[in-house]
This record gives sequence, structure tokens and C-alpha cells, in this order.
Amino acid sequence: MKKWVFSMALFATLGLHDTQSQLMLSHDHSPPPGLFVSGDSQYLDPASIETRVLRVQGMQIEGFSGASLQKLQAAFVVLEEAVNTEEFKERVLNFKNSKGQRAFASNKGLTNEQIYEQFMEGRETLQPETVGEMNFYLRLYHRRWSRVIGFTSATTNTISINWRFFRNYEPADVAANLAHEWTHKLGFDHRSASEYDSAPYAIGYIAGDIARKLRSKSLHE
Ligand SMILES: [Zn+2]
Repeated sequence: MKKWVFSMALFATLGLHDTQSQLMLSHDHSPPPGLFVSGDSQYLDPASIETRVLRVQGMQIEGFSGASLQKLQAAFVVLEEAVNTEEFKERVLNFKNSKGQRAFASNKGLTNEQIYEQFMEGRETLQPETVGEMNFYLRLYHRRWSRVIGFTSATTNTISINWRFFRNYEPADVAANLAHEWTHKLGFDHRSASEYDSAPYAIGYIAGDIARKLRSKSLHE
């Protein structure tokens, strides 16, 4: 893609789809996603759904070097580990929204199990052939005025990540951010930056939470 085309796309994204495609204004203050647990009437036994394997695949990585590239690679490793845990599966299947239902907001009519299956299937809207892969086209950008953690839009593979936030992030925070943005690549959206029951927010949160546990476990072993 030519550079000027991208710049225009970036402008259009920021101007026209203010809340739709941008990730988490300044900081993510999402509350922890709700969860049905074993014994609840709505609890879904994860064993009833086939476990799938998802691989993280960096496709095109721009603007990262040295420490930022190392951090990104660590994020890829822990993200892949996190989404393949039984805990991830159980928490997505048993996600409970703030109304107490086992359903995501803005779910396109899909159940939690269908959303888990679509996630693990890895068919991005713009790259439907790459089954079982989380394909990432990433660009680290520096813009002093930008107050979003990252953004993307429905018409591009590229996820733009704001250096202002990225530089202070742990790999697990980056993993959460990537999971949120990548859920957009599957066609899931949120109606506002506070629709925490949406798949991008809830799944991003769950992936980040598990990634943090995996990171602290591996650092203390
Ligand atoms: Zn978003």
C-alpha cells in the first residue's frame, strides 16, 4: 500500500469512526468480565466444546526495533500461550455480561461458544484463508496528540499501536491490546469505548489477565 493512501486511511479512521475502531481511550478501565462458574445453572462445561489450537503469526511488523521489538515478540509468545489455555476457553464460553446473561454485547447474534469457535478458527474478515492463525500486521506510531492505545478499521489488516502507551506496557498488556484489536479483525465491534461486555473488550481483558499470570509464573520459576 502506498504511504499516502495509508495516511489518508488513518485520517479517515480517526475522524469518522471515532469510537468504533479505536481501542480504549487513554487507559483501559474495563471492569473484570463476569463469569459463570461450575455449579451455576448457565455454566457451560468447556469439555463439551472442542479445543482448538491458534498460532500467532507476525505478518508485517513496522516501526518496532530493539527493545520494542523484543517486547512485541514476548507479547506474541504469551498471547499464543494464553489463548490456548483451558482457562481462556472456559472464561470465553462462560462469559457473563453485566445483565447476568451468558452473552457478549454486539455479538452479531452469536453465542459465546460460536464466538469462541470463530476466535479459535482464526479467519479474519480480510484474510479468511489463514485458518488457525492470528495474523498480525502491526505498525508502531508516534503521535503526541493521539490519546488512543491503538486503532484499526474494518478495511485494513493493519493495527496501529501508539508508542505513548506501548513504551510503558508489559508484554502481557500488549497481549491484551492485541487480543482486543484482533477481535475487531474477526468482525466484532463495540458501540462505544465503554461497551465492556463486547467481545473485543471482554476477550482482550481475559487474554491479558491470563497472560499476566503466565508471565509472573514463568518469571518466578
Ligand atoms: Zn476496539
